[in-house]
Amino acid sequence: GRTPVTVIGLGRMGAALAGAFLAAGHPTTVWNRSPEKAGPLVERGAVRAATVADAVAASPLVVVCVLDYATVHRLLGPAGGALAGRTVVNLTNGTPRQAGEVAELVAGHGAEYLDGGIMAVPPLIGTPHSLVLYSGAPDVFERRRPTLEVLGTATHLGSDPGLAPLYDLALLTGMYGMFSGLLHATALVRAAGVAARDFAPMLSSWVKTMTDAALPGIAAYADTGDHGGEAGSPLAMQAAAFANFLDTGEELGVRPDLLLPLTRLVERRVADGHGDEDIHGVLDLLATEPKEN
Ligand code: NDP
Repeated sequence: GRTPVTVIGLGRMGAALAGAFLAAGHPTTVWNRSPEKAGPLVERGAVRAATVADAVAASPLVVVCVLDYATVHRLLGPAGGALAGRTVVNLTNGTPRQAGEVAELVAGHGAEYLDGGIMAVPPLIGTPHSLVLYSGAPDVFERRRPTLEVLGTATHLGSDPGLAPLYDLALLTGMYGMFSGLLHATALVRAAGVAARDFAPMLSSWVKTMTDAALPGIAAYADTGDHGGEAGSPLAMQAAAFANFLDTGEELGVRPDLLLPLTRLVERRVADGHGDEDIHGVLDLLATEPKEN
């Protein structure tokens, strides 16, 4: 038979995870702070556990997906004794440091631990468009992989539990940076009276093209410090365009808030004497001293 699975946390995401396990035929036990959210899953065959400890005890594989890591500690701490011999897969969004702390808590109770980051929205869970990133002991991942693949593509990043949150947060940061650009660009055309839906396909295609054109050079600079030859778009030239972005926003009545941080960094890089390089060197301005625990 299929591996029994417990899902702790039945918010929008947790309910989708439990639903996917049920659909794939896994005996599924669920627990949620607000117990009524288990109702639709129980109708589909899930078992509702009365306590977190009961939920943990019910299955060898325990998936946790709640709001934050403070909640993970609050729920798993008191269930400690039940954890021995289980595999805990924590798919709650958090930081690499928080992942390390939960990994220690879980290991201290004699359980295996995988951290994870879900790169999908709830309706995509269980479809080929869902990607879930995992980190933790490779043998644990390989053993649990067939079950975890029920949720979507399962990608293992390495044994450090902090890797999945690191990739997750970096990917989301990239997404929000892109959203900044999409929002500002749309605000500009809207303010000028252009229908945003007519402009959208061009914007989409441009952003995709430029992502593929620019990212390899940025990554190469990050890894080697090599600019890859003479810049086709030197920063001094780009800085002049930034002034036009800000002026156009002012003329049309669009706030510069989303653009200003990058504008400042580009200007500083030029002032520092890097006007003949591409934008890659902004990476160096972003580096600060790491904050100790
Ligand atoms: P929801 O807000 O829908 O659900 C939050 C869950 O956390 C609920 O089960 C809630 O219980 C529980 N919870 C919150 N506080 C407590 C507490 N003090 N004690 C016990 N349980 C608590 O969020 P999602 O399900 O959407 O998100 C869950 C995780 O999944 C988050 O870390 C999120 O970042 C991640 N995620 C979500 C995505 C999405 O698109 N939804 C995409 C990718 C990742 P209750 O029902 O009782 O309130």
